[in-house]
Amino acid sequence: KPTIVWFRDDLRLTDQPALHAAVTSGRPVLCIYIFDQVSEGVRPLGAASRWWLHHSLASLDDKLRTIGGRLFLFQGATEAVVAALLRTGIEGLMFNRRYQQAERRIDDAVVDLCRREGVAVEDFVGSVLHEPWEVIPKTGGFYKVFTPYWRAAVAHGPTLPPMGVPGPMAKSAPGPRVEGGPVALEELGLLPEISWDGGLCDTWEPGQDGAQRALDLFLREKVESYATDRDRLGVAGSSRLSPHLRFGEISPREVIAALERRAGSSAEKFAAELGWRDFNTALLFHVPDLSTAPFHKSYARFPFTKLTPAALAAWQHGRTGYPVVDAGMRQLWQIGTMHNRVRMITASFLVKHLLADWRIGERWFWDTLCDADPANNPLNWQWIAGCGNDPVPYFRIFNPVLQGEKFDPDGAYVRRYVPELADLPDRWIHKPWEAPSDVLVKVNVVLGKTYPAPMVDHAKARVRALDALRRHRETL
Ligand code: FAD
Repeated sequence: KPTIVWFRDDLRLTDQPALHAAVTSGRPVLCIYIFDQVSEGVRPLGAASRWWLHHSLASLDDKLRTIGGRLFLFQGATEAVVAALLRTGIEGLMFNRRYQQAERRIDDAVVDLCRREGVAVEDFVGSVLHEPWEVIPKTGGFYKVFTPYWRAAVAHGPTLPPMGVPGPMAKSAPGPRVEGGPVALEELGLLPEISWDGGLCDTWEPGQDGAQRALDLFLREKVESYATDRDRLGVAGSSRLSPHLRFGEISPREVIAALERRAGSSAEKFAAELGWRDFNTALLFHVPDLSTAPFHKSYARFPFTKLTPAALAAWQHGRTGYPVVDAGMRQLWQIGTMHNRVRMITASFLVKHLLADWRIGERWFWDTLCDADPANNPLNWQWIAGCGNDPVPYFRIFNPVLQGEKFDPDGAYVRRYVPELADLPDRWIHKPWEAPSDVLVKVNVVLGKTYPAPMVDHAKARVRALDALRRHRETL
């Protein structure tokens, strides 16, 4: 009878404790993935994540074949699929733990099911540096502010060293036929019907090999200057590991272990960014409704402006008239990611300049980001909106012109994603409305025609947001 290795957000062979334990047991192993978008509370994946998952599953199957295994795909409600599999005769079940509420409920139900059938279950830690209950204040509860959290996490000491790829599998069990599968990858229908994914295909290499290559490139060329370059919009100064980490094609322990060979402030800064990932995962674990409810409950009463469909579409598709905002939103649409600083600028624009509900933006990012993460996405949005656990001060309103001038001084980022402004001199690239008309004529820019005029005036929008935020605070 085989032991099942249940892959979830850990689509790799390296540092894969569940796979490692199953393979080294010497028993036959059945590797499965269940595509479950129907169990209660599960948040259906966005379009970019579905694209990523398709390629990541294909890559995992290829990898498993190199050690004598293969991946069997199932779809439907997890409990029903597992119950059906158990009926075919299963020795044990192994998986790496997950931390979101709906997923934990499913996992608990599956564990109960196995226990009732006398099937042994083993679970492991594979997706985080520290589990949410490991780094907690001495006084109990959980950390609400990152700095003390990270200090405690560092003091907590190193996590387990990463494991290598397990040896060849003893004997790969055939995939039993049950309701829900096995199905062919194409049957999951993860790829778009209309092919909008050209930019994603050109940019990314989903899967374990792509993750390792991104890490190698980062360590070879970027880590030394990470602390400064991560904020430069025209430079690919960050690791681009986020979707790989999101789908578990590389573990954070592997990244930290590779990083530890590099001392220095840049490496420390980078390690702390990985700390944010754990911190957000822990917060969502302790306060499960944070994906849709504000940490500060009073913000549930904030009088958001209801955007017109045209205003929302202008933000979504990069037609706000603010070049750095538009470049970011177009980068997201084209290649399924956006520079971290521009995520902050575009998010702030939506929630402060347009006074829209942060959840509208969170949902758009969820659909379009390849790294859309159940914890990182809503909690970063809450941070920007000012309703999060440790938010930016409410009066901090990113000025899209100054941010552009500071972090994209030569306009390289804007020119790449807003080609209609490509010939504008640096001086006006972030504020084309201030360019003299003869300059605009010369570079073929007609505001309101070839490129939109600003949809709101920054100074007025700032005053309106501050007023609304102050009034709201007075009601607390
Ligand atoms: P690097 O700078 O190389 O950082 C390394 C890793 O650290 C990242 O891959 C990521 O796993 C983690 N990390 C970095 N910054 C953060 C952060 N602020 N919060 C949590 N983890 C972080 N990140 C996501 O992974 N998924 C999301 O859905 C997501 N949504 C966001 C929404 C908004 C509004 C904002 C402002 C930020 C969001 N981020 C999200 C955080 C951050 O923008 C991305 O993690 C980062 O841009 C990914 O690029 P990178 O891998 O090159 O990052």
